[in-house]
Amino acid sequence: MPGGYDLIVIGGGLVGGAIAWGARARGAAVLLLDEGDIAYRAARGNFGLVWVQGKGAGMPPYARWTRESAALWPTLAAALGDATGTDLGLHQPGGLAFCLSDQEFEERELLIRRMHNESGDIGTRMLTREQVRSMVPGLGDAVTGASFCPVDGHANPLRLLKALHQTLDYRANRKVAAIEARPNQFIVRAGDETYIAPRIVISAGLGSRQLAGMVGLHMPVSPIQGQIIVTERLRRLLDYPTHLLRQTDEGSVMLGDSQEDVGFDTRTRIAVLKQIADRNTRIFPALKDASIIRMWAALRVMSPDGLPIYEQSEQFPGAFAATCHSGVTLAGAHALALAPAILDGAVPASLAAFGGARFMHGAAA
Ligand SMILES: Cc1cc2nc3c(=O)[nH]c(=O)nc-3n(C[C@H](O)[C@H](O)[C@H](O)COP(=O)(O)OP(=O)(O)OC[C@H]3O[C@@H](n4cnc5c(N)ncnc54)[C@H](O)[C@@H]3O)c2cc1C
Repeated sequence: MPGGYDLIVIGGGLVGGAIAWGARARGAAVLLLDEGDIAYRAARGNFGLVWVQGKGAGMPPYARWTRESAALWPTLAAALGDATGTDLGLHQPGGLAFCLSDQEFEERELLIRRMHNESGDIGTRMLTREQVRSMVPGLGDAVTGASFCPVDGHANPLRLLKALHQTLDYRANRKVAAIEARPNQFIVRAGDETYIAPRIVISAGLGSRQLAGMVGLHMPVSPIQGQIIVTERLRRLLDYPTHLLRQTDEGSVMLGDSQEDVGFDTRTRIAVLKQIADRNTRIFPALKDASIIRMWAALRVMSPDGLPIYEQSEQFPGAFAATCHSGVTLAGAHALALAPAILDGAVPASLAAFGGARFMHGAAA
């Protein structure tokens, strides 16, 4: 049985990849097992935002974790860039959330004020229609204003995933079917292969629910579908990422961001795509003339309350759960804060609110 690993990470999406990379960067011998291309993979279908504003209302530990991650992202991008020669396309110029009515503006203002009061000031502020127009030419009349957060950004999530895999002992087409827990040892079976390590992380996205129960963890995640439209390459329209559209380094504009509970259905639907196109062309009327070159649907990995799950198994210490719905944003913290803590044998105390046991007694579980 191949042994000699300090840590086996199960699930090679952005959550597992970032944790495995962080542990590897600390000198651990890490194996990353991944089901591969036939699996549901949020890491391959997402929007690429490193997004802070509005996250963690009513949950300051999540707001702080998100902010910490955005601050750690440049270190992760630089280290991966040095190791692989890959430019992750990270830009953190600040992000805009557009409002398309007075009511949306008021609601957004309340949210921003609430977050300021609960979690402190990071410079997020409301911009009037005139202010936002002076930052972004070409906006439609429908835009009544926006919130702006100076620490928001975006990156190329496919390059991030590829760079993580390149630097790791990454094994695709290894669907883990069984985990046997023994004192200080986990025996992980994938096909006819067996691997052993004293620590494991379950970060298998939508596959986590099933695996977690094998080691006394609880990860009741479900799919929430999102659909994305990508245009042809356009002249530079937008220097800032926004929660609904962003322009990539190459010039394509990505439009989102739907959220639907349709089970494991990954088909796009015209009605949803139309809504996405309608809202975004109200923001940028010039997009009406752009050709669409791609559209897809992908499944988010969502816990019942939408917050991450991080936990070490009480029953089988050494087994950890890690899942969240913002694996791009949280990659910095997963790599540079969570992974070292897992190697040291504990989930950071600042993440105590995110144990999977919180779902054990409610209907949501
Ligand atoms: C439409 C959309 C837009 C999004 N936009 C953003 C965004 O702008 N910013 C942001 O931060 N996040 C965004 N996300 C979320 C982000 O993509 C995910 O949080 C991120 O991909 C991390 O997911 P993950 O690693 O938990 O799961 P996945 O990426 O789904 O990876 C799970 C991995 O586990 C593997 N696996 C499953 N079962 C097994 C098993 N039994 N054995 C071995 N391997 C297994 C699979 O092969 C897969 O590779 C978006 C998601 C979607 C769908």
